[in-house]
Amino acid sequence: MAFDLPPLPYEMNALAPYISERTMEFHYGKHHKAYVDNLNKLIKDTEFENMPLEKIIQSTYKRPEFTGIFNNAAQAWNHTFFWNSMTQNGGGKPEGEMLKKIEKDFGSYENFRSEFKTAATTQFGSGWAWLVEKDGKLAIMKTSNADTPIAQGLKPIVTVDVWEHAYYLDYQNRRPDFVDAFLDHLVKWK
Ligand code: MN
Repeated sequence: MAFDLPPLPYEMNALAPYISERTMEFHYGKHHKAYVDNLNKLIKDTEFENMPLEKIIQSTYKRPEFTGIFNNAAQAWNHTFFWNSMTQNGGGKPEGEMLKKIEKDFGSYENFRSEFKTAATTQFGSGWAWLVEKDGKLAIMKTSNADTPIAQGLKPIVTVDVWEHAYYLDYQNRRPDFVDAFLDHLVKWK
């Protein structure tokens, strides 16, 4: 059983101008696709061939002999989660239960926003920033390279990809501007 590249939940140009169609063509069409294709090659005829993606990630985590499988499986999962963390006309302050939970666990939406932005902009090199649920509370974390909260059994709520390939065509080296666009115009709270 081989994994397919999951379809995007919107058109390639839906997130423009914050994420351009050209970035989506490379990021989804080339980078994400390559992780899925590499994963399929690496798991063929192995014990992982028929496992669900989440189980492959958890089974190969921190096992040096399976680093290649972990990296490609985790990146395949992280990207699908990232596409689903965004929507056209998203961003800004959430409503209802989500806002209540953020205010309870971070004090205010403004504090949450500031902590999330700090995590996303201070992740050194490639990686991801996440809002997760941990022991029933919301928490912010950052991960390096392909690392993902689901490897540790945490529940991700939203993520932003801060690898340079996520923003370089649109923002060059201005990662903070990309993170602002994600928080203010793209993040999908529903
Ligand atoms: Mn990426």
